[in-house]
Amino acid sequence: MDSREETCQACGSSSGPLSKLSLGKDFFGRPYDRLSPLSDQNPKWYCASCSMHKNLHRDFRDILAEFDKLQASQSSELSHGDEFRRASLRLQEILTILTAPQQQSPFLETPVVTRLLEQLDTFTVPV
Ligand SMILES: [Zn+2]
Repeated sequence: MDSREETCQACGSSSGPLSKLSLGKDFFGRPYDRLSPLSDQNPKWYCASCSMHKNLHRDFRDILAEFDKLQASQSSELSHGDEFRRASLRLQEILTILTAPQQQSPFLETPVVTRLLEQLDTFTVPV
C-alpha cells in the first residue's frame, strides 16, 4: 500500500481500516458507470463511515437524476410505481441516517435530501 492510500479520501482520517469502494450496480440495478462522471471510475479509499456515506450519496444521486428525467417527462426508472416507492423509502432511510447523531456526511447535506423527498412526496406518479 503506498502512502496516498493510508488516509480516507473523504475525511482524511487515518485511523481504522480503509476500504476500496466497490463500483457495482447503481440503485436501479444498472451498471454503475452509466451515470457517473469519469472520475468515479477511479477506485477510492474510504474509512468505514465514509464508505457507508458514499453509498448513500450514490443512491441519492441516482434517484435525483431519474427524478429530474421524470419531471422533464423523459423516460425514467421512476415512472414505474414500484421503483418510485422504493426510491422514496430509500430517501427516507438516507434521511434517518443523516439526522442520527455523529452521522455528518462528507458528501450529502441533509436539507438537499429533505427537499428531494418532499418533491417525491408531492409528485403524482404517472400511470
Ligand atoms: Zn473517512
